[in-house]
Amino acid sequence: MFTYFDHNATTPLEPRVLDAMLPFLREQYGNASSRHDMGITARRAIDAAREQVAALVNVRPQQVVFTSGGTEANNLFIKGAAEILKPAQVAVSAIEHPCVARPAEALARRGWSVRKLAVTGEGVVNLADVDAALQVRTGIVSVMLANNETGVIQPVAAVAERARAAKAWMHTDAVQALGKIPVDFEALGVQAMTVSAHKIYGPKGSGALILDKRIELAPLLSGGGHEFGMRSGTENVAAIVGFGVAAEIAAERMDKLASRLEGLRARLEAGLTQLGAVIFGAKAARVPNTSYFAFEGIDGETLIIELDKMGFGVAAGAACSSTNPEPSATLTAMGVVPEIARGAVRFSLGVANTASDVDAFLVALNSVVQRFRGLTAMVA
Ligand code: PLP
Repeated sequence: MFTYFDHNATTPLEPRVLDAMLPFLREQYGNASSRHDMGITARRAIDAAREQVAALVNVRPQQVVFTSGGTEANNLFIKGAAEILKPAQVAVSAIEHPCVARPAEALARRGWSVRKLAVTGEGVVNLADVDAALQVRTGIVSVMLANNETGVIQPVAAVAERARAAKAWMHTDAVQALGKIPVDFEALGVQAMTVSAHKIYGPKGSGALILDKRIELAPLLSGGGHEFGMRSGTENVAAIVGFGVAAEIAAERMDKLASRLEGLRARLEAGLTQLGAVIFGAKAARVPNTSYFAFEGIDGETLIIELDKMGFGVAAGAACSSTNPEPSATLTAMGVVPEIARGAVRFSLGVANTASDVDAFLVALNSVVQRFRGLTAMVA
């Protein structure tokens, strides 16, 4: 048996999502641009999905630009805005996912100055640093809504207000917040927002950039003018349909799921505290499913390998950069010393997890921690 606690990396496909997708992979293979019956069926399915995704984030359907996922949507915003705006400062938080951080850093080669916004020890973007940063003429600001490692929720509305006053375009990467907490584009006051299907029990390779229609971006891909000219290429109908249904399911079950998972996390963290773990960002507001912790002196990589052998899937640091041996950039920005950061383990709950899964995990973790503590004591 394998118990999966890595839902911030990806989630399983919801059966209703798969059922909705299958006809578009089998008999309904029409191109949504075709004028005949099969094309019209595909077009209508995309339109319905656009409405479902729009409803989840409180926008009009025309504001949803479907992409191949969160990575593409983040690149589309940063690169597409930089193409239109005059070079100025680009300000992104120090804890952004690499698919925001790297394109922002790359703007340095095109005459932009790159500013990383500081976070507190709890992993929350520091508004005083945002104010300081915005003293310089700024074109683009990007701050994620929830961090993928800590789960800490960021003050995006407050940053957006400041960005607006400074006449900068504000973007938020809401990939890790969607389906976990309410995400309201209008209430956040941003110009652009990134979402991804596979973090909400939808298919991989499907996401969207949500746009305020008053801003103009240059597309990354030009061609047939699909997706309001923002993303050419024949639409991946099945993946878009899957995203739509996943968005609808997320809206239906979010409140109940969030409170259940929050309860499971509290159960986990009570156990972690007893075992002497450090829990990162625990005092900040977090998405309910995520816990990020470390045991001093025990390497995170070692912990995940041992836990994997015992049938539990968790992540060390950020899953998306797990080939990178450097301590997590998020923890470094939070001021966590490398000796502790190297121990970081990310535990992220999902819809199938139960209290007995959490209890079994704690038993396994306890045995691994005691074994490694014994070893370090012997070496010392
Ligand atoms: N943004 C955040 C915060 C993420 O956690 C991830 C995925 O791990 C992405 C963006 C990338 O999304 P996708 O996998 O759909 O490209």
